[in-house]
Amino acid sequence: MKLHEADAKSLLLAQGLPVPAWEVAHTAAEVRSAAERFLAAGPVGGKVVIKAQVLIGGRGKAGGVKLAGSPDEAEVIASQILGMDIKGMTVRKVLVGPAADIVKEYYLSAVLDRAERKILLMGSAEGGVEIETVAEEHPEAIVRRHADPLLGLLPFQARELAFAMGLGAHLKAAVAIAQGLVTTMRHYDADLVEINPLAIILESEPGGTPVERLVCLDAKITLDDSALGRHPGLEDLRDPDEEAPEDKEAREAGLTFIKLDGTIGCMVNGAGLAMTTMDLVKRAGGEPANFLDIGGGARADKVAHAMRLILADPKVNAILVNIFGGITRGDEVARGLIEARAQQTRDVPMVVRIVGTNAAEAAVLLEEARFQTASSLDDAAAKAVAASRSEGTPA
Ligand code: GDP
Ligand code: MN
Repeated sequence: MKLHEADAKSLLLAQGLPVPAWEVAHTAAEVRSAAERFLAAGPVGGKVVIKAQVLIGGRGKAGGVKLAGSPDEAEVIASQILGMDIKGMTVRKVLVGPAADIVKEYYLSAVLDRAERKILLMGSAEGGVEIETVAEEHPEAIVRRHADPLLGLLPFQARELAFAMGLGAHLKAAVAIAQGLVTTMRHYDADLVEINPLAIILESEPGGTPVERLVCLDAKITLDDSALGRHPGLEDLRDPDEEAPEDKEAREAGLTFIKLDGTIGCMVNGAGLAMTTMDLVKRAGGEPANFLDIGGGARADKVAHAMRLILADPKVNAILVNIFGGITRGDEVARGLIEARAQQTRDVPMVVRIVGTNAAEAAVLLEEARFQTASSLDDAAAKAVAASRSEGTPA
């Protein structure tokens, strides 16, 4: 689950990281009044920043990040940004805050490195631009350090990272921020915490001259959906616009569904069996169209739901059903398949393999309903691939 910048900043703030002040506004009038408050405090540079809150990067380039020098101007800019379309996402709210007077921009992120089973910190003095571009053009400009998931980022590692990024002059702050990213990641079970830009900005001391401060100017956090149960309240931060319609439907139906690029729809109970099924489809020369785990004990209505999800993908031209009945009853699944086929809007060949609990009852039902069945998984995969080939790719 992706978080909006403003929500990500709230989590960073709660972990003690330095984030400039902000408010979230939904209308141009709200932006105006927020701008009045921020400008009255006399920020260095005398401006406010208005930032589109959409779950996509590159808002700046797309015109979704603008500065305003007066409440009037803030209102005008807000009316331009609100409702704007940025890469297919409609802007429904904006962040307003005192515009930072930027001295230099850096990049710092923490991501889950599954291969290393560690948290990977990546830093660069080339901030503000997309890290993918830096990685391609100047890979040497990215500093990497792995943090232990239990111990976190050790102080010496954080110092090494800070020095290598050229942040020696802001060592204390850089160390705190780098360690803070790891703490945030572990505390909320995040997959990614990205600060781009991490910036040195000028801030005014009350009555004094401006001083440099290192702050998180932008924030991107992705949470592990599977860990949301451990964090009551975070689910409320979900933006319904983020999810593809099929993902939303699957989540609400309690199905684990991941869309892929192939043509053979797979309906399986159990994640391990689902992966095995996909492997065998590939080995038989086909490409799976999805990963779908209908879970244990799936009843007929859930099966029908899963079938609708599979068929919603126009590329699917054959379906492989592979059920190993334990808690899941074969006859229930067979009934679900019969029900689903009756409601089907397009005719797609289906190969069904059901073994385990109530497999015999299932076989009778499937035979009556004239389903194509298979005895072994290899046989099922071969039949599904053959069916997919003879159907060809739908336009
Ligand atoms: P993104 O484009 O979606 O990543 O949005 P960012 O929040 O990273 O903003 C993009 C760019 O706008 C930054 O790299 C900055 O150069 C600029 N920017 C963002 N906030 C401010 C600000 O408060 N003051 C100034 N002067 N520039 C800003
Ligand atoms: Mn950014």
